[in-house]
Amino acid sequence: MKILANRAIELLAIGLILAPNMMADEEKLSLTLRSRTKSAPEKVVEKKVNWEAGKTALIICDMWDDHWCKSAARRVGEMAGPMNEMVNAAREKGVFIIHAPSSVVSFYDKTPQRKLAKAAPFSKSPVPLSVKERWGTNWCWPDPKYEGVLPIDDSDMGCSCKGEKCEIREAWTRQIKTIELVKGDALTDNGQETWNLLAERKIDNVILCGVHLNMCVLGRPFGIRQMVKLGKNVALMRDMTDTMYNPERPPGVDHFTGTDLVINHVEQYWCPSFTSADLVGGKPFRFKEDERK
Ligand SMILES: [Zn+2]
Repeated sequence: MKILANRAIELLAIGLILAPNMMADEEKLSLTLRSRTKSAPEKVVEKKVNWEAGKTALIICDMWDDHWCKSAARRVGEMAGPMNEMVNAAREKGVFIIHAPSSVVSFYDKTPQRKLAKAAPFSKSPVPLSVKERWGTNWCWPDPKYEGVLPIDDSDMGCSCKGEKCEIREAWTRQIKTIELVKGDALTDNGQETWNLLAERKIDNVILCGVHLNMCVLGRPFGIRQMVKLGKNVALMRDMTDTMYNPERPPGVDHFTGTDLVINHVEQYWCPSFTSADLVGGKPFRFKEDERK
């Protein structure tokens, strides 16, 4: 018995010696953050940062299984595989993954990921969370105190299909299967639950990816506007997003240039961006239909 007790003390001592070193080795995310200033948006500013992976969350916005716009659904399908690889890489480094398929979280009621989100203890946010509603969740509308007018006209909801336009309907039932839910991930579309999860883990940094940038990635209660207002270090993964933009509407540029304009808007008014290549190496993701040089 005494031998066992001594052995236990010995192991504890080894643990105490090793622990600080392990802390020092904690994984860092080396990111090149791109931003613009409000006064000189043409000028790109790049800054290298090392974010502690353990203090970082990655939120996957509205990567649904289907969409009322066929083109939008096709692009999500194309992006989902590379996104899943990126999510796996981020998780392996110690980033906390939050799946946020808005308005279809009830599909996941019995999953450990949904239960984890519901179980996070209540934490009071430093500023009130948005209570206005849109499309099944609370919503942060464009805020003139922070930002100028969006650079693309999405008032027709942005079907980018050529010829006949898609009919608007609730087409989604869950997150696209390609993106795996893993033990330790959480799943929510709720602002308070998101805040609780971040507070419980003392998370300072929030990365947003998913769709659509001009709508949900900015406006959802876990999206860019809300996270910036809550004081988080926020960054957009700019190659893992898309917009709802119909090139027939102003400013009359092709769909992918339209997305780039919204990315510039985010960099100018809200938060910096980086690409998935910073996490997985190789080249940033690019849609096949993007024929620009
Ligand atoms: Zn369409």
